[in-house]
This record gives sequence, C-alpha cells and structure tokens, in this order.
Amino acid sequence: MSICGGIVGARGRNPNSIFIHNDAGSQASNANHYNVWLRTHPLGSGFAHYYVADDYILQAEDDGNCAWHCGNDYYNANALSIEACQSFGDKNIFLSNEQKALKLAAQKCNQYGIVPSESTIRLHQEVFATACPHRSVELHGGAKATKQYFIAEIKKYMGNGATIDYGQGLPGISPEEMEAEGMEYIFDIEGVGCVFYFDGQNIKAFAHGDELKLICDIYKANHGKDITARHYTKKAPWYQRLLEFSARKPVTSFKGFGL
Ligand SMILES: [Zn+2]
Repeated sequence: MSICGGIVGARGRNPNSIFIHNDAGSQASNANHYNVWLRTHPLGSGFAHYYVADDYILQAEDDGNCAWHCGNDYYNANALSIEACQSFGDKNIFLSNEQKALKLAAQKCNQYGIVPSESTIRLHQEVFATACPHRSVELHGGAKATKQYFIAEIKKYMGNGATIDYGQGLPGISPEEMEAEGMEYIFDIEGVGCVFYFDGQNIKAFAHGDELKLICDIYKANHGKDITARHYTKKAPWYQRLLEFSARKPVTSFKGFGL
C-alpha cells in the first residue's frame, strides 16, 4: 500500500499530463521529511505523487491513484504530480532536485505515452492562484520560460531513455548499519498497511496514527530533525533480520564464543 493509500481514489486510466511543483520547503524538507510528514499530518492539506530531494525520491502515491496536488479537480484526477523539494534551500541543491524531477517526468512520459507540450507539462500557477513553482520561475526567467525549459529538458531526457530510481521509502539496510545514524527509526513493509517502530531494542506496531505522530513529534523535538523512515520489500526482507536481532537474548557469557 502506498503512503497516501489511494485516499483520492483510483484514476482508472493512465495520467495524461504532469505537474512539476516546488514544495516551498526549507533545506530540511527532504524526502525522509515528507515520508514522516505525510504519515503524521492530514492528507487533505495536499500531497503529490513524488517528492524529489537530495536524499532520495519518495513515491507517496501510486501512479494509478489521483492526488490532491493542485486545487483543480480535473488535474488532481488526471495529472501526475512531482515536487521539486527544498525549494527555499540552497540554489544548487534545488537545481539538482529539479533536474531529477524532470528526468523522472521524462521516464513517466515514456511509460504512459505522454507527449511533452504546453498542454501536457503544466505549472501549478496555470490552474490555481499560487506562486508555485516559485523557485523554478525565479531561476529560469519567468513562468513562460520555465515551461519551455521544462518541456525541452523532458524531451532531452526522453530521447536518452533516461531512468531514475525512486521508492516508497529509503531502501532497507541492516540493523548493524543503523548504528551509524542512531538506532531509532520507523518502517513499513510492502503490502502491509501498518507502520512499525524500532526503539533501538524492540519492534512495536503503531495501532493508531496519533501514536505515530506522538513518537515522531518527540523525536523531532529531541533531535531537531525528522526520525528516519524506511520501507522494506519482500524481495529484501530486512524486517525479518531486524526481528531476529531484536528478539535475541543478551549475551551473558563469552564461553559460547570460544573464550
Ligand atoms: Zn504546486
């Protein structure tokens, strides 16, 4: 199940257009931030299919589902939405995120047979009273020039057959690797509609969204950043390794280790 869970419903056909948004987020608004934020805030305030940032590309909603991304019923239903994140942050990081967003858009155009044009590559401000995509417009010389730039870049990447990796969370890693970051984190598992919490020793399942919000809020207050969120797949079942590790009894003697 996707993070947003198909809350706006299935489209029932391929998307026919793509919006490149700017998230109006700070340097800290990376993909991990949105991974946690989307799970702990009402989705009615808006969300996109993809969040492209300097840590990774988060897919928050399946392509086949609609999203509340532009305040326009037609395009919420029919368009794919890609957020170029950290748009109030460092210029070079933003431009790199924007390039990755355009590469992802090219991949999706090839996948769904969308021909890039004025009517298929859209800016949020064309359909709604907003400055979005504010940073792109500022850096590329206005809305009209930005749109031309987006279309040209997407065509270029389509010609290259460029593809870019994305996922519904960070790729799974081993519990041992987690030590470098501090041990607490949250994770979900492909096909399981539940979020789990590893507190450094034990795994618990959140029974209610408020519990998840509480833990994430406290973590952020204590650490000044979002808790790490990961997504495990059945192909690489690190959740099973983590369970075995967390359930192991403490070492009380080194005799069994040949000492
Ligand atoms: Zn937007």
